[in-house]
Amino acid sequence: MNPLDETEIRTSFVNCSKGEARRLNLPKGLAELPWDALDFLGWRDPGAPDRSYLVAERDGRPVGVTLRVPNVRRSLTRTNVCSFCISTHAGSGVSLLTARRAGAAGRQGNSVGTYMCADLACSLYLRGLKRSALVSRPEESLTLEEQIARTVTNVDRFLDQVLDAGVPV
Ligand SMILES: [Zn+2]
Repeated sequence: MNPLDETEIRTSFVNCSKGEARRLNLPKGLAELPWDALDFLGWRDPGAPDRSYLVAERDGRPVGVTLRVPNVRRSLTRTNVCSFCISTHAGSGVSLLTARRAGAAGRQGNSVGTYMCADLACSLYLRGLKRSALVSRPEESLTLEEQIARTVTNVDRFLDQVLDAGVPV
């Protein structure tokens, strides 16, 4: 993705107040991030473990979403597969994250949730730039480009739901 600066990131958020967007903690070393290897920018709030953020390009513009770890008990049926990049993690490597919907739906308390890499590093797992013994990528017949395209599509669908862009959940 194209590199973003602090102002571009803070003004991209669609599902929180301007005040919250101004105050939220950005990832460290923005200018040094491996932007070329990122399909979207995702990070956990270093000061608030239940908060994460995702910024993705949509129609050439950055769209940012604040995410929360919902306060629900772990279920035995929870999945360990990231719905964006299809990586499988052990333990708490995949987390259910929810986004308040943008606009009126969000003000009424509506949110959408998805299971994703808890560190939001999907792009790096896809490219083999981040690995751990606890993460595995499925054997796939898709090329890396196709896997990246699929991830971008999955992120875009999620943003559709947050933006309430007419896609049924
Ligand atoms: Zn992932």
